Amino acid sequence: MATKYVYLFSEGNGSMRELLGGKGANLAEMTNLGMPVPQGFTVTTEACTRYYDDGQKIASEIEAEIDKYVTEMEKITGKNFGDPNNPLLVSVRSGSRASMPGMMDTVLNLGLNDEVVAGLAKLTGNERFAYDSYRRFIQMFSDVVMEVSKKDFEEIIDEMKEKKGVALDTELDAADMKEMVKLFKAYFKKQKGVDFPSDPKEQLMESVKAVFRSWNNELAIVYRRMNDIPGSWGTAVNVQAMVYGNMGETSGTGVAFTRDPATGEKILYGEFLMNAQGEDVVAGIRTPQTIDQLKQVMPQAYDEFVALSGKLEKHYKDMQDMEFTIENKKLYMLQTRNGKRTAAAALKIAVDMVDEGMISEKDAILKVDPKQLDALLHPQFEAAALKAAKPVGKGLAASPGAACGKVYFTAHEAVAAVNDRKEKVVLVRVETSPEDIEGMYAAEGILTARGGNTSHAAVVARAMGTCCVAGCGDVAIDEAGGYFTLGGEKIKEGDYISLDGSTGNIYVGQIPTVETKITGMFEKFMSWADKVRTLGIRTNADSPADAAKAIEFGAEGIGLTRTEHMFFEADRIPAIREMICSETEEQRKKALAKLEPMQQSDFEGIYEAMEGMPVTIRYLDPPLHEFLPTEEHDIEALAKTQGKTVAEIKAIITSLHEFNPMMGHRGCRLSVTYPEIAAMQTRAIIKAAINMKKAHPEWENFVPELMIPLIGEVNEFVFIKNVVVKTADELIEQSGSDLKYMVGTMIEIPRACITADEIATEAEFFSFGTNDLTQMTFGFSRDDAGKFLNDYYAKKIFESDPFERIDQVGVGKLMETAVQLGKKARPGIKLGICGEHGGDPSSVEFCHKIGLGYVSCSPFRVPIARLAAAQAALKDEE
Ligand code: ADP
Ligand code: MG
Ligand code: MG
Repeated sequence: MATKYVYLFSEGNGSMRELLGGKGANLAEMTNLGMPVPQGFTVTTEACTRYYDDGQKIASEIEAEIDKYVTEMEKITGKNFGDPNNPLLVSVRSGSRASMPGMMDTVLNLGLNDEVVAGLAKLTGNERFAYDSYRRFIQMFSDVVMEVSKKDFEEIIDEMKEKKGVALDTELDAADMKEMVKLFKAYFKKQKGVDFPSDPKEQLMESVKAVFRSWNNELAIVYRRMNDIPGSWGTAVNVQAMVYGNMGETSGTGVAFTRDPATGEKILYGEFLMNAQGEDVVAGIRTPQTIDQLKQVMPQAYDEFVALSGKLEKHYKDMQDMEFTIENKKLYMLQTRNGKRTAAAALKIAVDMVDEGMISEKDAILKVDPKQLDALLHPQFEAAALKAAKPVGKGLAASPGAACGKVYFTAHEAVAAVNDRKEKVVLVRVETSPEDIEGMYAAEGILTARGGNTSHAAVVARAMGTCCVAGCGDVAIDEAGGYFTLGGEKIKEGDYISLDGSTGNIYVGQIPTVETKITGMFEKFMSWADKVRTLGIRTNADSPADAAKAIEFGAEGIGLTRTEHMFFEADRIPAIREMICSETEEQRKKALAKLEPMQQSDFEGIYEAMEGMPVTIRYLDPPLHEFLPTEEHDIEALAKTQGKTVAEIKAIITSLHEFNPMMGHRGCRLSVTYPEIAAMQTRAIIKAAINMKKAHPEWENFVPELMIPLIGEVNEFVFIKNVVVKTADELIEQSGSDLKYMVGTMIEIPRACITADEIATEAEFFSFGTNDLTQMTFGFSRDDAGKFLNDYYAKKIFESDPFERIDQVGVGKLMETAVQLGKKARPGIKLGICGEHGGDPSSVEFCHKIGLGYVSCSPFRVPIARLAAAQAALKDEE
């Protein structure tokens, strides 16, 4: 049978979103519920896909089907398209599966031309109404279908109002509207060189095409990328009989929510305007009245609307966002959908609806978008102040929250401003490095000119829960001059800026922020999520403070402790530099001996904070040059302590230079060259664990997990494992402890994935390091990819950032391969992920699907991961 591309509202239903789009499916559903919905039909999303497959053309059979359905509609409404004596007018409305900004605006009153409008005037006895509808149609059709800007028409209206000396468009009379139609048509002809199309069928087909085109406009593409919506979905088109809210003082139009979308409070919340059509309410042309005022103005319609909205909420079991129109006192429903809401409202509504017995706990879990939880854990800008502010630039939304503070360009200055002058600070740097840690801690927010979502600034800021906007290439810093420029503004040291880490927007000046608090409702909701999820949730934490924060957020262990982060503190960096500058093994061992007790006490602190929960510790990972000084005075200081000349130190630094440090001498390769590093770290980890085990005999399952990074070959692993096991076993034997430990690896090199069976014979666990794995699989440097990925989105090569969302097709295939091979070689092997993807909801779902045991993410993302894991488990049940 031939594909059916068009459905009457009465042929569809609410479960057909994929085919009919959200708006179409809900119009059908309301029709089935017997609600007063102006009738019409939906052209399916498949027709849209087909339109693109056919080279942006509507196939003749689809056009014929639309024609047929226009005839159907004429029968249902008893009105005829293009018939002056009894005209059918329609609205053409876009509607994809998920509601999406950027899609084509609605065209109302389609079907009007010079003859039909005259007929309509006669029929209704309301000339003003007829010509008002016509001028609206010309305006909308020109704007959204023909690319003649709406603004130009607004100017014509304003000129006319001025000439007449009136303030409101309702004060223009029939003659004015008639005149306006003339002016509009003339303007159209001037712009397009052709007459305004008068054939209703042509108007309709052009509008349908315009909806399909809008699926691929820039705004829509960006929105899809941010919200994980595939480009292949396509949009549907709804063609619906018009009802008229602009027929006079007994007509009107409005929008309403069944609960307050800002707070979640259970009240009918909305606005309406009398004698108005469509967008007038939101457009702010006149000030609308609140919905409860409708009770006075038109009590019957109000009561009916209250009843219908209650019915809809019960039916959809969710807060509804509805549009209605009243034509001569008669109420019509034009749209309903699950309403958008703030994070706080989402939580309240989900919990309230469970309490009201409307939904189950499981339903509630699926109602909150995990990404939204961010807003509950970080400060936000005051909504009104944010709305009024205009951004001067935009970078990557690297770490959520809002920050407002004085600009400083070095970590040192930032720390001084906070400690000495009690200022609030935003640290602005080209990019950050481990040396900036203290300044990053001190700052309210961090702004960088360079680097992507896995850059140092982004990763560290997320771990700290500090707002960060990264990689804003337009930021030009003149450190010596003490200022930076952005969007034509010059911002000096000490000037205020505000950062929105949730959108990437950058503002000059102060926007007030509001703190958020975790409420009992949050705890209650999260406990429901914990009941259904099967994935374990761990955290990436490098300090007892991070670990403690993560436990507060519900982490069940540590999936990644980066030992190197401990080396950057002021009292340690000299020892690590001494180790790097050593010329003999003896010297190196001496330097390492200084580090050992420090590491040991770090690990004790972390074990203590985790109270016997699993802790995975990774061996030294970054290239050594990262630890060496870059500033002249630091180099001099190092020379002094090392008893070397400045030239000698510089020679060492030069010798450590690498062309591709990320693929250079790092990870397990360091321990292959210097096994004494692995030995020292093993001693610190094991000694700390022996002490803890002694102090806490109640920690029954306390088994530290020792993780060797960057393995690509089983023999590499064996070599280092031998060092680790020998060192560890000796210590355990000497102490008489019964401590157990595990040695495993990070899987972050493609070769490790495809030889995972070999590696698993030796490694007791795998943890996917998907930042490096993505980098190496694509061959994209994660620090440079930001520069060109935008071109990939613009040219539709990529739909999303593979560093943010696991590329399931490629990187995901490697992961699945590693999981299967690993399980085959070692049934019951522990599997987890510790890359940044561990806190991304769609990636968490993928990890659930391929059978990982846990995901690990930065502390502030732990709640997101818990909820995402619960949703993944529920979707699996379905
Ligand atoms: P959006 O998705 O931007 O809300 P809509 O298609 O819902 O776009 O429509 C825009 C406005 O036009 C809304 O106020 C809607 O109620 C109104 N509208 C749409 N179709 C009709 C119709 N058939 N009769 C009267 N008003 C309509
Ligand atoms: Mg709408
Ligand atoms: Mg790595």
